[in-house]
Amino acid sequence: MTSPFENLGRLLTYEDLREKISARYMKLNRKLKTSKDMTIKAKELARINLVYGNVKNYFEKIVHTMPHTSKIHPFYLDLLDVLVGANDYKKSIVRISKAIRILDKIHRECLSMFRLASKPSEYAEIRRNCIGRLLSVLKRNRKYIDFLAHTTLKLRDIPSIDPETPTAIVAGMPQVGKSTLVKGISTAKPKIDPYPFTTRNLILGHIIGRDFKFQAIDTPGLLDRPLSERNPIELQAILALKHVKGIIVYLFDVSITGYYTLKQQLRVLSDIEEAFDKEIIVALNKIDIADLSKVKELISTLKSKGYERLFKISALKGIGVKELKDTIISELRKIS
Ligand code: GDP
Repeated sequence: MTSPFENLGRLLTYEDLREKISARYMKLNRKLKTSKDMTIKAKELARINLVYGNVKNYFEKIVHTMPHTSKIHPFYLDLLDVLVGANDYKKSIVRISKAIRILDKIHRECLSMFRLASKPSEYAEIRRNCIGRLLSVLKRNRKYIDFLAHTTLKLRDIPSIDPETPTAIVAGMPQVGKSTLVKGISTAKPKIDPYPFTTRNLILGHIIGRDFKFQAIDTPGLLDRPLSERNPIELQAILALKHVKGIIVYLFDVSITGYYTLKQQLRVLSDIEEAFDKEIIVALNKIDIADLSKVKELISTLKSKGYERLFKISALKGIGVKELKDTIISELRKIS
C-alpha cells in the first residue's frame, strides 16, 4: 500500500467547471441550431441533459476518486488532517454526494414536466427553470468544489511511504549523515519524496533481500530538531510517523567538524524517545574523522541511558555500515 492520493489528478475549481460547462453548452447550441431532424422538445431536452450530465459526472468523479476517510491509513489521515483538515475533507465529499441525489431529483422532475408540456414556449420555460435549478446546486456547492480542488494540489506534498512496510526511520540533527546512510543501506535508486511542512525532500530507499522488502527513509526537517520547538501543525505532521511501522535509527555526528554539540544531539534523541514508542538503534557517524574525546564521552552517556548496543560507523566510507544494516534488518524482521 502506498499513498491513497498518489494517482489523484487535479480537480477543477467552481469557476473552471462553470466555464467548461458554458463552453460545451454553447457548442451544443450551435449544433442544435443547424440540426433539422430534431424536434424542439428533443432540443430543449438535450440542453437540460448536457448541464445535468456535466455537473453530475463531475460530482461523481469527485466522490469516486477521492478516497473515503474510513479507508485511509492513519498515517495518511494525519497528514491529510494537517494539510487541509480531515473533517472538512470528509464533509465536502458527503455534501457533493448529497448534491448528486438532488441533481437526480431535479432531473426527474424536469422530465415529468416535459411529459405534461405540449407547446414550444412551455418547453423553453421548463428548460430555463431546470437549468437554473441545476446550476444553483452547482453554485451552492462551490465552497466544497473549491476546497477539494485545493486539496488535490496540497496532497502533492504527501510522500509515497508505505506505512505497513517495516521501515528504518533515520533520524538525527541536520548534516549528521542521514541521507548518506539511507543511500548506503538501500538498494536501487532511492526516491525523492516531499513531506508536509518541510522544505527539504526526504529520501526513500528500499532494503531488499531474498525474502523481505523493507523501507529506509531519512527525515530532514522532521526528526532533526527538538520537538518542543515545533508548532502544533508541524508536530502533527512529524508525529504521523508514529503510524509508520518500523524502528528509528538515530545518528550522532561525532566528527571534529560536527556543527552540533553532543548536548544538542542528545536532546533531540530524548525528545524522540519520549514521543515515539519505537525501538531505537543508535549509531555514531563520521567515525573516519572522529573527535575521540567526543566518542568516549558520548558512549559513556548513552550507556548510562541504557543503550548497550552502539554502532561506530562512517556512512560515507562504509565503515561499520554492514553490521548496522544487518542489525536493522533483523529488527525489522521481528516486526514484519
Ligand atoms: P543529513 O543532513 O543528515 O542527511 O546529512 P548528509 O547525509 O547530507 O551528510 C552531510 C554531510 O556529511 C555530507 O557532506 C556528507 O558527505 C557528510 N558525511 C556523511 N557521513 C559521513 C561520514 O561518515 N564521514 C564523513 N567524513 N562525512 C560524512
